[in-house]
Amino acid sequence: MAKTSTPKAPSQRTVERQVRQRTQQLRAALEDMALVCSGTLISRTKVCGRKNCRCATDPEARHGPYHEWSRRIDGRLRHSIVSPEQAELLQVGIENYRRILSLLRRWEEETTAAILGRKNRKP
Ligand SMILES: [Zn+2]
Repeated sequence: MAKTSTPKAPSQRTVERQVRQRTQQLRAALEDMALVCSGTLISRTKVCGRKNCRCATDPEARHGPYHEWSRRIDGRLRHSIVSPEQAELLQVGIENYRRILSLLRRWEEETTAAILGRKNRKP
């Protein structure tokens, strides 16, 4: 009968030390972030509907741009019109949010690799 061997498990302290070492940069990147928000921002121009307004005939004269922020709250999509200044801050938060997701994936990979005892991972 073939004997299956279970690999020797590293201790929690060893695994934690290894993961801390390998995630120093990504944890520093998280530490640097302040603004975090989800959703998407779009900006668009609009026609006002008045027949004698220039926007009715001239695409260059459309009103705006208006910045619209869309995000999910409790599963429902919500839209808000925001100022250009708010849009700029929201954009920073949205980019940070995406970066956090990718950093979390790396953190997860490092943790899995450390628990399974894989070595020679690229930094
Ligand atoms: Zn108009």
